[in-house]
Amino acid sequence: MPRRQNNGLDSVASLTVDTLRLAASHLLAPLRVLRELSSSLVGWIRSTARTINRVSRLSEILAGARLAIRDSYSLISTTHRKELKEFASAARDGARSVLASLAGADIFRVSMTAPDARAIADAKLLFGNSVADSWARAAAGLQAEFQRTVQQGIFLNETATRLTERIEGTPEAGFADGIMKKRYREAEAIVNTAAVAVGNAVRAEAYETSDDVTILTWSAILDAKTCLVCAGYHGKSWTMEGRKPIGHKLAWPGYLAHMRCRCSQIPGVRTKSDKAIREALDLDVGEDELAAAVDTVQENLDKQKEMPGSFDEWLAGKSHDYVNKLLGPGRAKLWEKGMPLEQMLTQTGRPLTLEQLNAKWSGERQRSNRDFIGLIAALAKKEREKRK
Ligand SMILES: [Zn+2]
Repeated sequence: MPRRQNNGLDSVASLTVDTLRLAASHLLAPLRVLRELSSSLVGWIRSTARTINRVSRLSEILAGARLAIRDSYSLISTTHRKELKEFASAARDGARSVLASLAGADIFRVSMTAPDARAIADAKLLFGNSVADSWARAAAGLQAEFQRTVQQGIFLNETATRLTERIEGTPEAGFADGIMKKRYREAEAIVNTAAVAVGNAVRAEAYETSDDVTILTWSAILDAKTCLVCAGYHGKSWTMEGRKPIGHKLAWPGYLAHMRCRCSQIPGVRTKSDKAIREALDLDVGEDELAAAVDTVQENLDKQKEMPGSFDEWLAGKSHDYVNKLLGPGRAKLWEKGMPLEQMLTQTGRPLTLEQLNAKWSGERQRSNRDFIGLIAALAKKEREKRK
């Protein structure tokens, strides 16, 4: 399969890199607010340390914490959604530049409005949750865990210092043993995932407003961190309308495959007549120059029809050790025997277990053995008939 040569793929890959860089800046506010929250939670515990009655101490700590947690996450949510809306506006312009990079000229029109793009930032893109839902769930999670932790600590009659360690963690463990650590990681997952989801969704919906885009092709970042699911999707295409699989069986997974997914989708455009390109270019130049410009655009559009190489192709250039480390020894063995990554997933993109895969493989081998035996028998019969 020829690899995509033009810069359409590169421009989408660089969009993802830019998106993740931007997500790093979106994470600053949540992390700052969560660190402040951690200090307030610890403050509530310390300030009640002298209370003798354990029951009243617990309710005092919990009442203060409840408000602090709610307010902190609502601040995080508001700030983050505002940033995402700005990002969505920019992604709308990004869609047009991706299309322009496919043709080498700005000849495709997208008619998505800025308010439409901004509204996508609030859509339920995170596996059925909106960004606001995700932060609300994070707040509820911390609320419950904080209550459980403090109740347990007070039940065990722990010192205020030990209790605060349960929240913040200890320097000896690099603070990984406190309940806040999980919340910092969770915030990072929400921010990174939301940025990729909003960027992909805005661009795809913008392409949808252009009659010229007919296909979406999945593009994973190919490196040692790529998961089996995204590797299986890489290079697969779906129709723009109805999102039907083209030449494979995997159902359209949505704009991303899992939390922290770094994938994106490349638009595929329909062929255009020279006349249409001429009109779209709208250049005030001589006839020869115009004809040359139209030829260049046609060449670029031809190139973008070639599919990007599959992940299997990319992996074929790697060492046995690399494949082993990436897929795990069991799957690596099957892959080296010739099972493509796509077949290691269910139709809905869930990885099959090693047992299921082995059964599938031996089933396939039996089937091909049967086919082979049938072929030999048919040939032998033909041979016998010839001799008669
Ligand atoms: Zn992915």
